[in-house]
Amino acid sequence: MDSKSSPVEIFFFPYVGGGHQIPMIDIARIFASHGAKSTVITTPKHALSFQKSINRDQASGLSVSIKTLHLPDDIDIDIADTDMSASPHTDTSMLQEPLKALLAEHKPDCIVHDAFHRWSAEAINSLGIPRLVFNGNGCFSRCVMENLGKYKPHEKASSDYEPFVVPGLPDRVELTKSQLPIMIRQPQQHGFVPKKMGKPEVNSFGVVVNSFYELEPAYVEYFKKEMGNKAWLVGPVSLCNRNVEDKAERGKKATVDEQQVLSFLDSKEPSSVLYISFGSLARLAPEQLLEIAYGLEASNHPFIWAVGKIFRSAGKEIENEETWLPSGFEERIRESKRGLIIRGWAPQLLILEHPAVGGFLTHCGWNSTLEGVCAGLPMITWPITAEQFSNEKLIADVLKIGMKVGSMHWVSWSTEPWAAVGRDKVDMAVKRLMSGDEEAVEMRRRARELGEKAKRAVEGGGSSYMDADALIQELKSVRKYES
Ligand code: UDP
Repeated sequence: MDSKSSPVEIFFFPYVGGGHQIPMIDIARIFASHGAKSTVITTPKHALSFQKSINRDQASGLSVSIKTLHLPDDIDIDIADTDMSASPHTDTSMLQEPLKALLAEHKPDCIVHDAFHRWSAEAINSLGIPRLVFNGNGCFSRCVMENLGKYKPHEKASSDYEPFVVPGLPDRVELTKSQLPIMIRQPQQHGFVPKKMGKPEVNSFGVVVNSFYELEPAYVEYFKKEMGNKAWLVGPVSLCNRNVEDKAERGKKATVDEQQVLSFLDSKEPSSVLYISFGSLARLAPEQLLEIAYGLEASNHPFIWAVGKIFRSAGKEIENEETWLPSGFEERIRESKRGLIIRGWAPQLLILEHPAVGGFLTHCGWNSTLEGVCAGLPMITWPITAEQFSNEKLIADVLKIGMKVGSMHWVSWSTEPWAAVGRDKVDMAVKRLMSGDEEAVEMRRRARELGEKAKRAVEGGGSSYMDADALIQELKSVRKYES
């Protein structure tokens, strides 16, 4: 293979959905900035959503590039239509043969692949190329899920709403049955997805995690020692986006003029604006959006609300806004300059780091959670699905940088959404977080401190910086050399 001095060559094979693809692209760019030769493997259509940031990195001298897997056009569209809304159930197995051919031809030192490509661990193992797994979560939620599976505390809960403690963890972590994924609550009916996914970590070189040690030290240790994972923490990866273009176009180009957003924020007092987003897959019922709108109006605090797409029922997008906004709502917030609604894709990083933003109402997706942490923002937590309820416990109960809106129901991507949280809860949470009360002030102080730690972790000598270097060194040490 390569000579001792040549850079380590790492392939990155991201999943096709926003919350997984976005951080993996950042990870590829981070390893390039540490001297590796990074190559992102994707389809021609998906490449379009991050090509520009890769071009900018190349222009600044980094060794990062894209290789596309060639597929008939209709299949590429099938995989997700590049709108960032591929659910974890999207089948990507049509990429298997093109991927194997590419790997066999190039024989990189290693490949980092997303666990949602369920077939990929086996396919890569058959080629004998070192394989690192990326699954998009932090260590805390992995530990919670592990111990839920191991001790099954929910089986002793007398009702869906009786809180139980997840045993064996460094902190007291409480959940209710209603907050658990359906495949844990009713594994027999749902074929238990994690089993279907297998354990891609088995027979791998290790795991790359978007997190940083100082955020969840006890859980990093638990994840490594108790759960037996070899892990490198290289996050928060969003911090590699340093210029305005990278921030504004991350994921995909924002559907709003970023100048409009920035001038709205510039006109506001420091820490006065609440940013609201439910991530890349958000699928809230119109009735729920209506409750949020009423709650926001009652709270009387400035806000930016990234609404995303609005669906009535699976796959059917709503065009008529009458059904999800109170009558005259938009005119009122426009005239009073109190709020901004973003339909479609928001430039989230630009918004979060603006000094006028003082709080983040989030669905607790792991990327959003970390991005809120980086921005030093206290949060209102509103988990809906995936591992978001675990992330809520980390934010609100362990780190104490957020307050819960009171979301109680885990909902799967395929379930018809409904209005699960009423306007009063929204109003109350916004007032509590954005007020100058002691509780909110303390939360804000802790969030700021954590934000500083996050930034230090990715700077030279920081924990994540060192982990990225350590992985590169380890990959070099196992390299097979040509004599
Ligand atoms: N995002 C964005 N603009 C949007 C919606 C989402 O930039 O309008 C980004 C957000 O910054 C984050 C990712 O999309 O990096 C969403 O990932 P997360 O893990 O928070 O949630 P998911 O979309 O996976 O539910």
